[in-house]
Amino acid sequence: MGVKQITGYIWDEAERLPRNEMRKLQLERLQSCLTRVAKSVPFYRDKLANAGITPGDLGSIDDLARLPFTYKSDLRDNYPFGLFAKPASELVRLHASSGTTGKPTVVGYTQNDIELWSNLVARALAAAGVTSEDVVQNAYGYGLFTGGLGIHYGAEKIGATIVPVSGGNTQRQIMLIQDLSSTVLCCTPSYALVIAEALASEGIHPATLPLKVGIFGAEPWSEEIRHQIQDRLGIPALNIYGLSEVIGPGVAMECPQQVGMHIFEDHFIPEIIDPDTGESLPDGQVGELVFSCVTKEALPLIRYRTRDRTRLIREECACGRTMVRMDRILGRTDDMLIIRGVNVFPSQIETVLLRSAETEPQYQILVDRGDNHLDYLTVVVEAPQSTVGDSDRRGQLQTDLAQELNSALGISCAVRLVGPQEIQRSDGKAIRVIDNRII
Ligand code: ADP
Ligand code: ZN
Repeated sequence: MGVKQITGYIWDEAERLPRNEMRKLQLERLQSCLTRVAKSVPFYRDKLANAGITPGDLGSIDDLARLPFTYKSDLRDNYPFGLFAKPASELVRLHASSGTTGKPTVVGYTQNDIELWSNLVARALAAAGVTSEDVVQNAYGYGLFTGGLGIHYGAEKIGATIVPVSGGNTQRQIMLIQDLSSTVLCCTPSYALVIAEALASEGIHPATLPLKVGIFGAEPWSEEIRHQIQDRLGIPALNIYGLSEVIGPGVAMECPQQVGMHIFEDHFIPEIIDPDTGESLPDGQVGELVFSCVTKEALPLIRYRTRDRTRLIREECACGRTMVRMDRILGRTDDMLIIRGVNVFPSQIETVLLRSAETEPQYQILVDRGDNHLDYLTVVVEAPQSTVGDSDRRGQLQTDLAQELNSALGISCAVRLVGPQEIQRSDGKAIRVIDNRII
């Protein structure tokens, strides 16, 4: 199916700041942020004192690498408000991370933080061409998760009409797109596929819908999934990235060039490090993404280890933004599975599965430990009924996919083809890995 064309625009002149000016701004902001946290957050006061660093010691933004890291465990150890730099009376909002990897962490915002966040999401929506003429159907979850309210305030800032439907109830999503003439769809990429499936099963051709662009994020997705979504919905699918500890959605956003996400680095200074040694890595190399949030008031985290794996792309972008880009998230440093001693990332499996024209972009990875204490990997993936119902075809495809996975991963695994809709759908972040090992 043809994909509609969109024209983005630049919301904030800061997005085109020349590099030397950006570096100067970042340094000033970092120094003033350090002064603030050294005064108001005992955790940072002690850390900086132990490292023997005062804000004035930083001569250039490259000196960022001398500062100590902040880990998710620091937020947990100081749960809920221990790292906050502002008293409760100045907070106007609390959120929590979705707890993908354990107990949630609580994050807070002052009025200025909400204003900043709204403007950053407005930048992101503007990059996708969203204007006051648009109707934004926001199918990210509302509540403690930052996705829903984050997009909400950004859309209002632009003056677009927001439809705060939240996730789920796919039939109603489709009805609202049609009846309210929604032009922008915001949700997780996996939920975009659920909507696309429902459209197909109801015989609604996407070209008849008013949608013009989709803004998808909050979970990892591959280039292959992007093509599937674009093909099935007929709209460009742009990637938006964020995490609650940094601010929420609106940390980085793709422009219509679709060549990585511009990081709003005047507020969140990015670095890529080697997750094992903590050493900084040069641009272009894949490692762990680290952010320093230099302008936030309530929770200004320094060198926060996101555990997300990606690389920075420094080359100019045709859209005119000078802001550094990050590649799509290639996984989390902690979503790596170790199967019989081999490191396996779910994204590697997804890439193989989606190369096959015969499987659907719906899969689950099961890990079990046998009585012999060996780990077994089973990949369950959906295929059309015509394939699954034909036992020869099914057997052949299972063998072929297992072989391809074997050569991509370096370990053997079983593939089980199942029929349409057999894998449970999610209206938020998809659950791709089920680890049954008791270790
Ligand atoms: P949690 O860590 O509990 O899931 P959040 O709800 O704040 O907390 O989710 C943030 C995480 O979601 C990021 O660290 C990242 O792993 C993932 N994420 C967000 N946006 C994207 C995206 N566009 N692509 C890949 N992963 C993303
Ligand atoms: Zn660009």
